[in-house]
Amino acid sequence: MNNQELLRYSKHLMLPQLDYEGQLKITQSSVLIIGAGGLGSPAALYLASSGVGQITIVDFDRVELSNLQRQILHSTNDIGREKVASAKDRLSAINPEIKIATINKALEADELREHVMSCDVTIEASDNFKSRFLTNRVCVEEKTPLISGSAIRFEGQLSTFRLDQATSACYHCLFSDTNTDSIGETCTQSGVFAPATGVIGSLQAAEALKVICGIGEDLSGRLLLFNALTTSWKELKLKKDPNCSVCS
Ligand SMILES: [Zn+2]
Repeated sequence: MNNQELLRYSKHLMLPQLDYEGQLKITQSSVLIIGAGGLGSPAALYLASSGVGQITIVDFDRVELSNLQRQILHSTNDIGREKVASAKDRLSAINPEIKIATINKALEADELREHVMSCDVTIEASDNFKSRFLTNRVCVEEKTPLISGSAIRFEGQLSTFRLDQATSACYHCLFSDTNTDSIGETCTQSGVFAPATGVIGSLQAAEALKVICGIGEDLSGRLLLFNALTTSWKELKLKKDPNCSVCS
């Protein structure tokens, strides 16, 4: 790290759990973020400002006025632009020391696999089950840590799947893809409280940094449920499903 970087990350360097060694791991790490929306925005902002060396962002949408209430990567001037282009500009402005790659389309399994393989951690921050199940399947196959989050109405949920460890449950152990019709609604249909996406997306960044540095205790084996209306948290234990068609 050069002098500018030492200064930029000085408040991380002061933390004994991180120190120079931890920050170096962060600057040498790569993270894949699926979705540059309500969750992907805060996740990407914190990972970029923290110095993650390479961030790859995937999103096929363009910025719309109705996104700006929660998708804090994008500004009013960005309406009509590709979300990934807007994201890259914003992240580069915050931290020019890092590399940002953008993919402006929905990835099929094979392309997604290439990117999952080349990154240390994958953050699933899309708004739909199809993407969540595909990302989970690829991360299971490639044995890569997956941090999956979602937010709708006033509620959010989050878990970390340490798919690099054989005992880890996967997203499919939690939600079978045959029974998601009733929970398949999106923010577009139901609305979402802006700060709820901020809380979950920020926690996804925190989980990614902890996994990269190997510090603390991640959310592996636990599902965190957040209710912004009552400001309360619930935690459910997650176990690997021995009959899961994806990971078992
Ligand atoms: Zn599973």
